[in-house]
Amino acid sequence: MPNNTDKEAKRPVRVRFAPSPTGLTHLGSARTALYNYLLARQTGGQFILRFEDTDRKRYDPQAEDDLMDSLHWLGIQWDEGPDIGGPHAPYRQSQRKHIYLQHAEQLIENDHAFYCFCSAEELEATRKEQLARGEQPHYVGPCRNLAPEEAAERVAAGERHVIRFKMPKQGSITVHDRLRGDITVENQYLDDFILVKSDGHAVYHLAAMVDDHLMGITHVFRGEEWLATFPRHGHIYRAFGWQEPEWIHLSVFLKPSGKGKMSKRDTEQMKLTGHSIFVQDLKDEGYLPEGVVNWIALMGWSYDDKTEFFSMPDLIEKFSLDKLNPSSAAIDFKKLDHYNGLHIRALEPEDLAARIKPFFEAEGIDADDETLLKLAPILQVRLTTLDDAVTFAGFFFKEQVTPEAEELVGKKMSAAESAEAARQAYETLQSIDDFSHETLEPPLRALAERMGLKAGQLFGILRMAVTGQQVSPPLFESMAIIGRQVVLARIDQAIQLLDELAAKEA
Ligand code: GLU
Repeated sequence: MPNNTDKEAKRPVRVRFAPSPTGLTHLGSARTALYNYLLARQTGGQFILRFEDTDRKRYDPQAEDDLMDSLHWLGIQWDEGPDIGGPHAPYRQSQRKHIYLQHAEQLIENDHAFYCFCSAEELEATRKEQLARGEQPHYVGPCRNLAPEEAAERVAAGERHVIRFKMPKQGSITVHDRLRGDITVENQYLDDFILVKSDGHAVYHLAAMVDDHLMGITHVFRGEEWLATFPRHGHIYRAFGWQEPEWIHLSVFLKPSGKGKMSKRDTEQMKLTGHSIFVQDLKDEGYLPEGVVNWIALMGWSYDDKTEFFSMPDLIEKFSLDKLNPSSAAIDFKKLDHYNGLHIRALEPEDLAARIKPFFEAEGIDADDETLLKLAPILQVRLTTLDDAVTFAGFFFKEQVTPEAEELVGKKMSAAESAEAARQAYETLQSIDDFSHETLEPPLRALAERMGLKAGQLFGILRMAVTGQQVSPPLFESMAIIGRQVVLARIDQAIQLLDELAAKEA
């Protein structure tokens, strides 16, 4: 049995979700946020939301709202963040520019960084030469060896510059990923990478490290796309002499086919097949946040390979870093449907009624609470998504149903025979005052038998007459909810349609 007895998991963590607000929130981000949240709640620690919004070209203010709405909807609440503040505010990197600059200057003072005045043209020329020689492009310019006084003078004179990390020429660095173990790289393969751009904005490598340190982050969950530059981050921490957090690089998701990573284009194509990886779309498609959370929790983490149903409290209790999986999982929407069904069935009927209501409203159907509550138990066992309720049960709220005459004809029956069956059913039903599943079924079964019909033949006609659909919730429960008057009126309408059809056929 997995357990969380490791001491580290019991100590209150400080974790952060640090998205770049550039687009809609997708499953990968949601999962990263979720794991952070689970660990924070499990250990009584804090979960921080930080916007890494320094890429002003790609910045999209709507993406911030979408991120916060998506997390709220999923039930993931942060303890510190751009909207609620906290002891380490501001939580937006664009407002922390001066902090990064100060830290870059500190690295320069300690000889771990240098000002670089090389022009883009010079750098490009060197890059081309290096590539032509089959070398990995790297910085070899003169600025690394400039006398500090000279560099300071040129900066003071307003010369355009960047700040680069002074990568040691010898030796190697070993960084540790929780899921993959030690990763060792020779420093000669690492570049004098840029820390601060010429516009004065720090790059991720500096900004995120400084923030994580200042914000007291103990565990960093981020995507495996950061593995390539992970050694740089180790170097930065060590150059400052800071204690490193626990690094956890989560695997990216694979396409549903299992072949290859999800790209932007795949996302677009997926939409054409009716699926989306964006949280807000999943909400609109009628998935429960509980179902989505259950699904993404298990895309990269497992408990005992048997248990399927996890509520948020279950996850908070059972989540463990030791059971995270470093290999990539393929996105499987069938599993989402499955988990969603489990969570729909676990809802209290009142809760289900309240959750399906907006889907009726979105279709312009005025669904009253009383009927919704009656419907909830019979829908509960049948729904995959909340919006199925509308397709399945919209007829309950319609003034009229409009079946085609042909659709009302019973299996292997003529229109005239079907009209007669409907007429007799009408008479049977008319004699019943109290409509309930128990009072309706026996006399109608008896009627079918008397008429030499299979129960399915008669019930098929009645189902179409009363619901206007071939597939519906159970017939007698549905009739009981719709009520005697409406049921009789709809059967009457069916009789007329069938009579007209029979007259045409005769
Ligand atoms: N802003 C980075 C991203 O969205 C954050 C990576 C991290 O969590 O450190 O990929």
